[in-house]
Amino acid sequence: MAKKNCEICGAEIGLLKQVQLADRTYICRDCLKKTSPYFDNMRCTLSDYKDHMVQLERSKKLDDAYFIKNKDASSFCAGKVRINEKAGLITFHGSKGGFMMFGNTELPIVYRIADIRNYELISERSRGTDGKEIENTYLHMFFVATSGVREIKMQMSRGDYNNIDRKLSQCFGGHGLVGGIISDVNKTKSQINFAKNLASTLKEANVKDALTGKGELNVEAAQGIVSAVDDAFYVDRRQLVERADAAIQAVLG
Ligand SMILES: [Zn+2]
Repeated sequence: MAKKNCEICGAEIGLLKQVQLADRTYICRDCLKKTSPYFDNMRCTLSDYKDHMVQLERSKKLDDAYFIKNKDASSFCAGKVRINEKAGLITFHGSKGGFMMFGNTELPIVYRIADIRNYELISERSRGTDGKEIENTYLHMFFVATSGVREIKMQMSRGDYNNIDRKLSQCFGGHGLVGGIISDVNKTKSQINFAKNLASTLKEANVKDALTGKGELNVEAAQGIVSAVDDAFYVDRRQLVERADAAIQAVLG
């Protein structure tokens, strides 16, 4: 089989050192080592890799300012997850190999809490070396408007998950979030207004006739639907967005 070159550093890579990304490009193991343990090469493309490197660089600075050296941060899961409600940020720590030693560098990823699309506790069963069935539980969390790593799957106990869930519910004004805007529609005035606006925008865009072939889609109006949905996602999260953006700007400029 022909040798390949790493798309990042250019090094020639033999078969054993090849790592294929989701878009069928290849990088070398040394370049993979620079990623967070939450970087999944089966799901991430070369452009995600490049974005992730920027994400790590920015996260390191934010992590120092708002988590490691900040008493406003609450710590969960032995410090692997930290939430700073005041700064509107959440951080996930991880190091390759799963443990810290010999100067093994931690690679935090910091996200805006407002960008959390949803999260859940998932449970996977497997057999231990003694043949007994064991259950592992994970936090699985997804982010919108984020480049680089956009989902986190971290093993933790139900107790740790519940503590994080409680803290995030508090950050989201006590009503928590399940499935983002869908489950929240009808709950708040702002979201009822959103539904009304959306209905009139749908009419304006002529979506119904366009779908049945009776008329043309008004593209400009249709684009309004996309931004209306985006706005609605953040409608109850404006304060969280503002706090996070101010915090980020203070550190990264
Ligand atoms: Zn490389």
